[in-house]
Amino acid sequence: MFQAFLIKYGEIGIKGKNRHLFEDALMKQIRHALKPVEGKFFVRKEQGRIFVEAESAFDYDEVIAALQQVFGIVGICPMVQAADEGFDKLAETVNDYLRKVYGDREMSFKVNARRAKKSYPRTSMEINADLGERILAAFPNMKVDVHKPDVMLDVEIRDQIYIYSQIIPGPGGMPVGTNGKAMLLLSGGIDSPVAGYMIAKRGVKIDAVYFHAPPYTSERAKQKVVDLAHLVARYSGPINLHVVNFTDIQLYIYEACPHEELTIIMRRYMMRIAEHFAKETGCLGLITGESIGQVASQTMQSLAATDAVCTMPVFRPVIGFDKQEIVDIAEKIDTYETSIQPFEDCCTIFVAKHPVTKPNINIIRRSETHLEERIDELVQTAIETTETIWVE
Ligand code: ATP
Ligand code: MG
Repeated sequence: MFQAFLIKYGEIGIKGKNRHLFEDALMKQIRHALKPVEGKFFVRKEQGRIFVEAESAFDYDEVIAALQQVFGIVGICPMVQAADEGFDKLAETVNDYLRKVYGDREMSFKVNARRAKKSYPRTSMEINADLGERILAAFPNMKVDVHKPDVMLDVEIRDQIYIYSQIIPGPGGMPVGTNGKAMLLLSGGIDSPVAGYMIAKRGVKIDAVYFHAPPYTSERAKQKVVDLAHLVARYSGPINLHVVNFTDIQLYIYEACPHEELTIIMRRYMMRIAEHFAKETGCLGLITGESIGQVASQTMQSLAATDAVCTMPVFRPVIGFDKQEIVDIAEKIDTYETSIQPFEDCCTIFVAKHPVTKPNINIIRRSETHLEERIDELVQTAIETTETIWVE
């Protein structure tokens, strides 16, 4: 029954020149999201509104699900489009629409007509009153309430007539691509995919880096990260995933540094390498899934020790969340089931029994001097042998 969708988006902060950047990015993301959906769609902008029009048959639920993954969309209004064939025909179309959407539901309504085409022979006020009358005559279960209607029926008279009344919530946020790019440290865990989702929601495009430690971590563990990147990409758009072979660096740290400092030193090298790729690809920050106190490497002291090697800002969107709050988002965005698949992580393999929880940065720096002989070369090799996978 619906042929088109009106896309509602938040307009705060998108005045002036930013407005068309925002709208263009939003249209681009909508087209991207609709690509895998069967059917032909036309996305267009008209007088500061964005419309998605179907040019073939389509599956309604699939389209809504795709649009609900596009950041920047606040609401999705399924519309009926009708040619202007006189008022009687319009009233018929409206009643037909109401019957299909609401049936015999007891409800109040208000007609909200807008006449963009000024040549239409009735004013907006007249359309409101006349249509209201026709509706009341056809539906004993409906009554008018102009102050607090259950249903606001929008009727827009343009070259065509648009009829809509439902607003399906979108994900909010800002269109990806309107706020630069950042590099996500993506592990196979629960937290980092959520972190990536949250930053992408603010309009930031993301790339990702995964530290792989074969043969200690399996191909299956790597595939799980690719799968997670794929799930995040439904929201963020395509992700360039850099898979770094981290084994030799980890083994070297294991060999040369105190075991209780392994995790923290390893994390410092992860950050350094992630920052290398971030700079190379024009990213403006790093993203991790850390939350204060969750594990030994996420105490305030540990976070400071990892931050100390970065020259870029490190964004940690789940920093103040409890595990359950992160899990709730992971479930909502459908990454949870993949995240809990039991595959080994490179951090857990080399983890010490009693890791330092309050690392002293000077001591850590001193321990790292034990790596002087070979670390630069190992980092260089890790960078050179990195595999980049395009995930969409
Ligand atoms: P997650 O659930 O995201 O794996 P976690 O609670 O297991 O997080 P850690 O293993 O300490 O916590 O990792 C903290 C953060 O460091 C992760 O959220 C991620 O951003 C990054 N990270 C950890 N391991 C890797 C890895 N192998 N590759 C890339 N990033 C990683
Ligand atoms: Mg982890």
